[in-house]
Amino acid sequence: MTKFEELHKLKEEMEKDDSLPLKKGATKLVFGMGNTQASILCIGEGPGRTEDAEGLPFVGQAGKLLDKFLILAGLERKKVFITNVVHHRPPENRDPEPSEIEAYGKYLDKIIEIINPKLILTLGRFSMAKFLPNVFISSVHGNKFDIDWHGKMITVIPMYHPAASLRNGNVLRSEQDDFIKLATMLPEILSPKSGKMQVEQESLI
Ligand code: URA
Repeated sequence: MTKFEELHKLKEEMEKDDSLPLKKGATKLVFGMGNTQASILCIGEGPGRTEDAEGLPFVGQAGKLLDKFLILAGLERKKVFITNVVHHRPPENRDPEPSEIEAYGKYLDKIIEIINPKLILTLGRFSMAKFLPNVFISSVHGNKFDIDWHGKMITVIPMYHPAASLRNGNVLRSEQDDFIKLATMLPEILSPKSGKMQVEQESLI
Protein backbone atom coordinates (compact mmCIF):
# COMPACT_ATOMS: atom_id res chain seq x y z
CA MET A 1 0.00 0.00 0.00
CA THR A 2 1.19 3.54 -0.70
CA LYS A 3 1.33 6.10 2.11
CA PHE A 4 -1.69 7.79 0.52
CA GLU A 5 -3.66 4.53 0.65
CA GLU A 6 -2.56 3.81 4.23
CA LEU A 7 -3.61 7.29 5.37
CA HIS A 8 -6.92 6.99 3.55
CA LYS A 9 -7.60 3.67 5.27
CA LEU A 10 -6.71 5.18 8.66
CA LYS A 11 -9.03 8.12 8.00
CA GLU A 12 -11.90 5.71 7.24
CA GLU A 13 -11.14 3.83 10.46
CA MET A 14 -11.25 7.08 12.42
CA GLU A 15 -14.52 8.11 10.82
CA LYS A 16 -16.11 4.90 12.06
CA ASP A 17 -14.69 5.18 15.59
CA ASP A 18 -17.60 6.28 17.80
CA SER A 19 -15.42 6.11 20.92
CA LEU A 20 -13.59 9.31 19.96
CA PRO A 21 -14.61 11.73 22.73
CA LEU A 22 -15.10 14.92 20.68
CA LYS A 23 -16.94 13.28 17.79
CA LYS A 24 -20.48 14.04 18.98
CA GLY A 25 -20.06 17.82 19.09
CA ALA A 26 -18.14 18.08 15.81
CA THR A 27 -19.33 18.48 12.22
CA LYS A 28 -16.44 16.85 10.39
CA LEU A 29 -13.37 14.81 11.15
CA VAL A 30 -10.25 16.86 10.43
CA PHE A 31 -7.78 14.11 9.67
CA GLY A 32 -5.00 16.04 7.98
CA MET A 33 -3.89 17.31 4.59
CA GLY A 34 -0.81 17.83 2.50
CA ASN A 35 1.92 15.89 0.82
CA THR A 36 1.82 12.25 1.89
CA GLN A 37 5.48 11.91 0.79
CA ALA A 38 6.58 14.90 2.88
CA SER A 39 9.63 14.79 5.16
CA ILE A 40 8.07 17.48 7.33
CA LEU A 41 5.01 16.95 9.51
CA CYS A 42 3.28 19.95 11.15
CA ILE A 43 1.14 19.14 14.18
CA GLY A 44 -1.30 21.70 15.55
CA GLU A 45 -3.76 21.61 18.39
CA GLY A 46 -7.27 20.94 17.12
CA PRO A 47 -9.75 22.13 14.53
CA GLY A 48 -11.47 25.48 14.95
CA ARG A 49 -14.81 26.56 13.48
CA THR A 50 -13.65 26.85 9.84
CA GLU A 51 -11.72 23.58 9.97
CA ASP A 52 -14.73 21.81 11.53
CA ALA A 53 -16.96 23.04 8.69
CA GLU A 54 -14.50 22.17 5.91
CA GLY A 55 -12.91 19.01 7.33
CA LEU A 56 -9.42 20.40 6.63
CA PRO A 57 -6.72 21.59 9.06
CA PHE A 58 -5.52 25.19 9.32
CA VAL A 59 -7.88 26.72 6.76
CA GLY A 60 -9.04 29.65 8.97
CA GLN A 61 -7.15 32.78 10.08
CA ALA A 62 -4.42 30.84 11.90
CA GLY A 63 -3.97 28.70 8.78
CA LYS A 64 -3.49 31.75 6.56
CA LEU A 65 -0.77 32.93 8.92
CA LEU A 66 0.79 29.46 8.95
CA ASP A 67 1.03 29.64 5.14
CA LYS A 68 2.97 32.91 5.47
CA PHE A 69 5.29 31.39 8.09
CA LEU A 70 5.95 28.38 5.84
CA ILE A 71 6.95 30.73 3.01
CA LEU A 72 9.49 32.41 5.36
CA ALA A 73 11.11 28.99 5.75
CA GLY A 74 11.10 28.39 1.98
CA LEU A 75 8.24 25.91 2.39
CA GLU A 76 4.64 25.71 1.27
CA ARG A 77 1.65 23.56 2.09
CA LYS A 78 2.27 21.10 -0.72
CA LYS A 79 5.72 20.31 0.72
CA VAL A 80 4.45 19.33 4.21
CA PHE A 81 1.73 17.24 5.81
CA ILE A 82 -0.43 18.95 8.44
CA THR A 83 -2.48 17.37 11.22
CA ASN A 84 -3.51 18.02 14.85
CA VAL A 85 -3.36 16.39 18.29
CA VAL A 86 -7.16 16.08 18.29
CA HIS A 87 -9.07 15.63 15.05
CA HIS A 88 -12.52 16.84 16.07
CA ARG A 89 -13.26 20.39 17.19
CA PRO A 90 -13.40 20.83 20.99
CA PRO A 91 -16.62 22.63 22.01
CA GLU A 92 -16.28 26.44 22.00
CA ASN A 93 -12.67 25.96 20.84
CA ARG A 94 -11.62 25.09 24.38
CA ASP A 95 -8.27 23.44 25.05
CA PRO A 96 -8.26 19.68 24.51
CA GLU A 97 -8.32 17.64 27.77
CA PRO A 98 -5.47 15.19 28.51
CA SER A 99 -7.91 12.25 28.14
CA GLU A 100 -8.97 13.55 24.70
CA ILE A 101 -5.38 13.99 23.58
CA GLU A 102 -4.75 10.40 24.66
CA ALA A 103 -7.81 9.07 22.82
CA TYR A 104 -6.76 10.67 19.52
CA GLY A 105 -3.09 9.92 20.22
CA LYS A 106 -3.19 6.39 18.86
CA TYR A 107 -4.30 7.77 15.47
CA LEU A 108 -1.73 10.58 15.56
CA ASP A 109 0.95 7.98 16.32
CA LYS A 110 -0.17 6.01 13.28
CA ILE A 111 -0.06 9.15 11.09
CA ILE A 112 3.51 9.80 12.30
CA GLU A 113 4.43 6.18 11.56
CA ILE A 114 2.99 6.32 8.03
CA ILE A 115 4.40 9.75 7.08
CA ASN A 116 7.73 8.79 8.71
CA PRO A 117 8.93 12.42 8.83
CA LYS A 118 12.49 13.62 9.36
CA LEU A 119 11.20 16.79 10.98
CA ILE A 120 8.15 17.47 13.12
CA LEU A 121 7.13 21.09 13.61
CA THR A 122 4.90 21.32 16.63
CA LEU A 123 2.52 24.28 16.59
CA GLY A 124 1.64 25.28 20.13
CA ARG A 125 2.18 23.74 23.53
CA PHE A 126 -0.15 20.72 23.21
CA SER A 127 1.66 19.10 20.32
CA MET A 128 5.01 20.20 21.78
CA ALA A 129 4.19 18.36 25.04
CA LYS A 130 3.77 15.09 23.13
CA PHE A 131 7.49 15.08 22.29
CA LEU A 132 9.01 17.51 24.80
CA PRO A 133 7.18 17.19 28.10
CA ASN A 134 8.07 19.51 30.98
CA VAL A 135 9.43 22.40 28.95
CA PHE A 136 8.07 25.89 28.42
CA ILE A 137 7.39 26.97 24.87
CA SER A 138 8.72 30.45 25.69
CA SER A 139 12.13 28.90 26.47
CA VAL A 140 12.45 26.39 23.63
CA HIS A 141 10.56 27.76 20.61
CA GLY A 142 12.51 27.68 17.35
CA ASN A 143 15.16 25.31 18.73
CA LYS A 144 15.98 21.91 17.32
CA PHE A 145 15.63 18.72 19.37
CA ASP A 146 16.69 15.30 18.11
CA ILE A 147 14.49 12.80 19.87
CA ASP A 148 14.22 9.03 19.93
CA TRP A 149 10.67 8.37 18.78
CA HIS A 150 9.85 4.68 19.21
CA GLY A 151 13.43 3.75 18.30
CA LYS A 152 13.82 6.21 15.43
CA MET A 153 15.57 9.58 15.52
CA ILE A 154 13.29 12.46 14.58
CA THR A 155 14.05 16.17 14.74
CA VAL A 156 11.40 18.18 16.56
CA ILE A 157 11.23 21.97 16.41
CA PRO A 158 8.60 23.52 18.67
CA MET A 159 6.94 26.63 17.22
CA TYR A 160 4.39 28.93 18.77
CA HIS A 161 0.81 28.30 17.68
CA PRO A 162 -0.05 30.73 14.84
CA ALA A 163 -3.20 31.72 16.78
CA ALA A 164 -0.92 33.01 19.57
CA SER A 165 0.84 35.15 16.95
CA LEU A 166 -2.51 36.51 15.81
CA ARG A 167 -3.17 37.65 19.39
CA ASN A 168 0.23 39.04 20.34
CA GLY A 169 2.64 41.14 18.26
CA ASN A 170 5.71 40.04 20.23
CA VAL A 171 4.89 36.38 19.64
CA LEU A 172 4.31 37.17 15.96
CA ARG A 173 7.77 38.73 15.56
CA SER A 174 9.35 35.88 17.45
CA GLU A 175 7.59 33.27 15.33
CA GLN A 176 8.59 35.06 12.12
CA ASP A 177 12.22 34.92 13.30
CA ASP A 178 11.86 31.22 14.14
CA PHE A 179 10.61 30.38 10.63
CA ILE A 180 13.36 32.48 9.03
CA LYS A 181 15.88 30.56 11.18
CA LEU A 182 14.20 27.30 10.15
CA ALA A 183 15.09 28.06 6.51
CA THR A 184 18.77 27.94 7.46
CA MET A 185 18.34 24.70 9.45
CA LEU A 186 16.39 22.72 6.85
CA PRO A 187 19.24 21.69 4.51
CA GLU A 188 21.02 19.82 7.31
CA ILE A 189 17.85 18.33 8.82
CA LEU A 190 16.61 17.07 5.46
CA SER A 191 20.06 16.05 4.24
CA PRO A 192 20.20 12.60 2.60
CA LYS A 193 23.27 11.88 4.77
CA SER A 194 21.01 10.96 7.68
CA GLY A 195 20.88 7.29 8.62
CA LYS A 196 17.22 6.99 7.75
CA MET A 197 17.72 8.05 4.15
CA GLN A 198 20.54 5.54 3.72
CA VAL A 199 18.17 2.78 4.77
CA GLU A 200 15.62 4.02 2.23
CA GLN A 201 18.29 4.03 -0.48
CA GLU A 202 19.36 0.52 0.45
CA SER A 203 15.84 -0.74 0.21
CA LEU A 204 15.57 0.67 -3.31
CA ILE A 205 18.51 -1.36 -4.64
N1 URA B 1 -5.65 25.48 14.97
C1 URA B 1 -5.14 24.25 15.08
O1 URA B 1 -4.42 23.95 16.00
N2 URA B 1 -5.42 23.38 14.14
C2 URA B 1 -6.18 23.66 13.12
O2 URA B 1 -6.40 22.79 12.29
C3 URA B 1 -6.68 24.97 13.01
C4 URA B 1 -6.42 25.86 13.94
